[in-house]
Amino acid sequence: MKDLRALPSIDKLLQSEAAAEFIAEYGRSLTVEAFRSILSDVRKGYEQRADIPNEKEILEKTGSLLEEWTLPTLIPVINATGVVLHTNLGRAPICVEDFEWTQNVTTEYSNLEYDLDRGRRGSRTVHAEELLKKITGAEAALVVNNNAGAVLLVLTALARRRRVVISRTQLIEIGGGFRVPDVMKQSGAHLQEIGTTNRVHLRDYEEALQEPIALVLMAHQSNFKIVGFSTEPKADEIVQLAHQHGVPVVNDLGSGVLLNTEEFGLSHEVTVQEALQTGADVVCISGDKLLGGPQAGIIIGKDEYLKKIKKHPLARALRADKICLSLLTATLLHYLQGEALQKIPIWRMISATPAELQRRAEHWREIIGTGRIVPGKSAVGGGSLPGDTLPTSLLSVSVKNPERFLKKLRTQNPPVIARVENDEVVFDPRTVLPEQEEKFLVALQNVLG
Ligand SMILES: *Cc1c(COP(=O)(O)O)cnc(C)c1O
Repeated sequence: MKDLRALPSIDKLLQSEAAAEFIAEYGRSLTVEAFRSILSDVRKGYEQRADIPNEKEILEKTGSLLEEWTLPTLIPVINATGVVLHTNLGRAPICVEDFEWTQNVTTEYSNLEYDLDRGRRGSRTVHAEELLKKITGAEAALVVNNNAGAVLLVLTALARRRRVVISRTQLIEIGGGFRVPDVMKQSGAHLQEIGTTNRVHLRDYEEALQEPIALVLMAHQSNFKIVGFSTEPKADEIVQLAHQHGVPVVNDLGSGVLLNTEEFGLSHEVTVQEALQTGADVVCISGDKLLGGPQAGIIIGKDEYLKKIKKHPLARALRADKICLSLLTATLLHYLQGEALQKIPIWRMISATPAELQRRAEHWREIIGTGRIVPGKSAVGGGSLPGDTLPTSLLSVSVKNPERFLKKLRTQNPPVIARVENDEVVFDPRTVLPEQEEKFLVALQNVLG
C-alpha cells in the first residue's frame, strides 16, 4: 500500500473479527485507543516514507500493543546472584504458607480495627505488637510502613524542634536516598554532631549532654565498616551516660536480626534483644531485611515513649496496611515457635549447608550438561553485614559473550539474574528458591540453546 487514503478507519477495524476478540479481552475503550495509537504511528511513518501496513498487519500490531499495555510490570524473577537480601530484587522473599492466612484476612473482612470482645472500634497496632513483645521482651511496639518512616516518626514525635545528638561515625546513607541528616531535618529535630568521621569518645557524648537534649540517636553502620584508626564507645556506655542525664536513647538498628548470626559463620550483628538489653529506649528495624518478612518499619521499646509515638499524627500517615500486618504476624510466629530456620526463606538460604549447595549446583550441571562447579561466596546484602560472605558452590559456565548471555537470561520467563566472575557466568544455588529450580533450569537451557 502506498497511499494513506487506503488506511482503514477505526470504525472499519472495529468491525473485524480480531477486534471483537480484543474487545472481549481488553475492553472496548482500550482497543480503540490501541487502534488510534497504531494508526497515528503509521501516519507518522508515512511522512518518513515508510511503507503502509495492510489491515492484517495493523490488527497484528494492535494485538501486540494491547498485550504490552496490559502486561504487569512487577513480575517474579529468579535470583541466582547469591545475594540473599537483594534490595533491587525485592529484599526478603516471604514464606508461601504465610499467604494462606493473609489471603483469608485480606479477601474477606477482618477485625483489623475491631475489638471483638467489646463489639466496638479496636486498634490495628495490637496485631503484631503482642508477638513483638513476647519475642523481644520489649514493653511496647508499633508497626509502620517501613524503617525510614519509623525513624522519621520517632524523631518527629520525640525530638521536633529539639536537639538530637549523633556521632559523626553514624551519619549514614543507605540505599534509596535514606540519609540520617536529611531524615533528621525532615523531622524538625536539630542535629548535633559529635566526634569525627573515624573517632568518637565517651567524653564527646558527655560534653554534648551538658546542654538540653531530646535524645541520643544511634544509627547502625549497616552497609560499611570503618577500619583502621577508629574508636567508638560501647553502646551500653553511651546508654548509661545518657540515662544519667535523663536523656533517652534511640537505636536505628536497620536490619533487625532476631537470631544469632555467628551461628551461621557470619560476624555478630547486634540483635534486637541485645539492643534492648543494652538499655536503648526505642529501637527501629526493617521488616524485610534480616527479619525476613514483608516491608515494614518496626518500632519497639519502652511504653513511655511508644505512647507518645503512637499518638503522633504522623503515625496515622505511616501506618501499616492489613496485608503487611498479617504477613508480619505470620513471620513473627515462626520465630516464636522456633521454626524460623525452616520456614523463613532468607534463613533457609543463610543456613543452607555447603554440602546441600554443592549437591544442588552439581544437579544443575548434570541437567544442563555443561559448566563446572567452583567454590564461591554468597553475600547477605540488603544493608546488613557489610563485607561478610558465606561459602558456596557456584555453577560456572563459560560462554562467548558473558554480558550478552546475562542479557538473554533476563529476557526469560521468569527472568534470571546472574553475575559474571572470572569471565564466566556463575549461578549461586543459595538464592534460587527450590520452587523455582525447574523454571530456572528451563531458562538456562533455553539460553544455552
Ligand atoms: C535499611 C535501613 C533503614 C531504612 O529501612 P527501610 O525499611 O528500607 O525503610 C534505615 N536505617 C538503617 C540503619 C538501615 O539499615
